[in-house]
Amino acid sequence: MYCVGLTGGIGSGKTTVSNLFQDLGITIVDTDVIARKVVAKGSPALTALAQHFSPTILTDSGELDRKKLRGIIFSDASEKAWVEDLLHPVIREQTRLTLTASKSPYTILSSPLLLESPDAALVDRVLVVDISEDDQILRTETRDGVGKDQIQNTIAAQMPRAQRLAKADDILDNSGSLDQLRKRVHALDLRYRELAKS
Ligand code: ADP
Repeated sequence: MYCVGLTGGIGSGKTTVSNLFQDLGITIVDTDVIARKVVAKGSPALTALAQHFSPTILTDSGELDRKKLRGIIFSDASEKAWVEDLLHPVIREQTRLTLTASKSPYTILSSPLLLESPDAALVDRVLVVDISEDDQILRTETRDGVGKDQIQNTIAAQMPRAQRLAKADDILDNSGSLDQLRKRVHALDLRYRELAKS
C-alpha cells in the first residue's frame, strides 16, 4: 500500500484537499477522525479515562466531555502525559490498521502533526499544503469565526512554515482559487497513481 502523508498548518486547506482526493476515489485516513473514534462512547480508552479521572469526565449521555478533559490537561502536565500515553498508541494502532485495510490505488494519511509524530514513518511521501500566514489567518477567521490572536497562537504552536516546507516531497500551493487547487490535485493524483504502481 502506497501512502501519501498530507499535512499543513491551520487553515491551509488540508480538509479541502482531502475532499478533492476523495472525489477522485482515493481513501483518506484522517488522524483527527481516528482520535475521536478511539474515545467514542463505550470504547476501552474512554472507560480507562473515566476510571482515571472519575466518571465526571463523561457527559450525561456517556460521551467524553472534551472541554473538561482539555481543561484538566491544560493545567496539569503530568495528566497530559498520562492521557497521551494512553491514547497515542491506540490512535497509532488504529491508524495502521485503517491504512492496511485501504483498497484504493494509494492512500492519503491526513494529519496536522504528521511531521512532528511517529506517523511520519507510515508514509512513503509527504505532501504539504501551503499558504501564507496572512491567508491562514483570513481563511481560518472566515471558517471558524475566531479572533486573529487565537489563530496566531495556534500557528505559533505549530511547526514553522519553512521547516515544514523543507520536509515536503511535494508542495501544494493553495494561494489561488479552488479551481486552481482542483487542477493541482488532479496532477498530483496522476503522479501518485504512477508512483504507487512502481
Ligand atoms: P485545514 O483543514 O487545513 O484547517 P480547510 O480545508 O478547512 O483547512 O480550509 C480552511 C478554509 O479555507 C475553509 O473554509 C475552506 O473552505 C477555505 N479554502 C480552502 N482552500 C481555499 C481556496 N483555494 N480559496 C478560498 N478558500 C479556500
